[in-house]
Amino acid sequence: MTSLEQVRERAENDAKTYGYYLTPDKELLQDLLEGLQKNEIRYGYPSCPCRLASGKIEYDRDIICPCDYRDPDIEEHGFCYCALYVRKDVRDGKKPIKPIPERRPKEKQMNAYKDSPETKTQENTIESNPSTPKMKLYYCRQCGYVCFREEPPYICPICKAKKEMFAEVTAPT
Ligand code: SF4
Repeated sequence: MTSLEQVRERAENDAKTYGYYLTPDKELLQDLLEGLQKNEIRYGYPSCPCRLASGKIEYDRDIICPCDYRDPDIEEHGFCYCALYVRKDVRDGKKPIKPIPERRPKEKQMNAYKDSPETKTQENTIESNPSTPKMKLYYCRQCGYVCFREEPPYICPICKAKKEMFAEVTAPT
């Protein structure tokens, strides 16, 4: 099993190779590295901790960290979608980390959604046991980002809040 230290070293080496830095926010860094490690254990490859993966490498290839979108995002905004990799001006605090648009094409996001083990598990459990609770709608209490999944993401892709900042949306009684 890949240790957290190995995940960190891999990210540090990759940042050095491309002239980037890892986020100076220690807490965010720790959460993102843990997310990468968990995805690697779960899927066999370190898919992006801010995005939903399908679990099928042919669909997820573009979001294996470092993803295909990192370099253009860093060039345009100074950091990647999760803000794991940052440019020097961001590392030095000269440019703030803010939400950036998702560069991954919508159709690829849909493939991930259809094939995600989270979605499949849900469909199977609903078929075998209709009383099983459905996938849940979560919102980020910090920025309001909403997602529909079995669990909230490790890191909010918009404001980088931790998983604990997500709450379930419940229907008014
Ligand atoms: S957005 Fe950042 S953390 Fe996510 S896969 Fe791309 S490079 Fe890795």
